[in-house]
Amino acid sequence: MPTLFVTHPACLDHLTPLGHPERPDRLRAINDALAQEQFKPLLRAQAPAAPFESIALCHPLDYIEALRAATPQKGMVRIDADTTMSPGSFEAALRATGGALHAVDEVVAKRADNAFVAVRPPGHHAETARAMGFCLFNSAAIAARYAQDHHGLTRAAVVDFDVHHGNGSQDIFWSDASVMYCSTHEMPLYPGTGARDERGEHDNIVNAPLRSGDGGPQFRDAFEATILPRLRAFAPDIIVISAGFDAHMRDPLASLNLLEPDFAWATQKIMQQADASAQGRVVSVLEGGYDLEGLSQSAAAHVTALMRG
Ligand SMILES: [Zn+2]
Repeated sequence: MPTLFVTHPACLDHLTPLGHPERPDRLRAINDALAQEQFKPLLRAQAPAAPFESIALCHPLDYIEALRAATPQKGMVRIDADTTMSPGSFEAALRATGGALHAVDEVVAKRADNAFVAVRPPGHHAETARAMGFCLFNSAAIAARYAQDHHGLTRAAVVDFDVHHGNGSQDIFWSDASVMYCSTHEMPLYPGTGARDERGEHDNIVNAPLRSGDGGPQFRDAFEATILPRLRAFAPDIIVISAGFDAHMRDPLASLNLLEPDFAWATQKIMQQADASAQGRVVSVLEGGYDLEGLSQSAAAHVTALMRG
């Protein structure tokens, strides 16, 4: 079965202020990298817009409506200190989440082995009713709940290797024993959450913080010592990856020193767990990554691993 690659041109129409790191060129760089010959076998799909009732698996309807109402006719509006909306942002956010949901559908139906969803805005900082940190809807979290709600899967895991802690995903799943949220991230760093003792009401939150300057060996140790054993014990029926590539050495927003092979390694370890407990079901959703070369090359290594290359 092929690996599915989902994106949508509407995700380029979410505009951010000049100089903002979360910019449309991020997606263009990934698309260029995945246009190379070795990615020909990918099954390619355009992201549908997510229906509000699916987004409402994680966010209240009045939050969704408030973001729609906040969408400007022209120019940009500021939603939080570093999160803005342009006229295309709401549609981009609907496509971002819809892409993740489509990927779940295709992977569960076994029309694809697994999937990478290259969309923006990102999602993992979006809390239940609060947009922040470049994020509007928490697409990865919604995809996990959707797999349970729509496809009857019992246990979902979200594994987040973005360099920032996914405070939004932690918030959404804090009291939900059916979802395990696992994160490696630099600490201290934005948004400030993600300490090891933040464990959720059911010990279902697994935080493995790293320190500024840490690289591949420390990252792999955190996976081997903390995240993979917990995933093994939880035995998820699907694994959603919050795939941020801003832990790359070249990234301007953080100070970890991962390289492309580290992302490929983590991808393979997650796939091994999915093969063991989840019939291989892995849906990976783009989060951060702000150096275009580090981002695109890491995403290419990640997708190559998903293709079992
Ligand atoms: Zn990030």
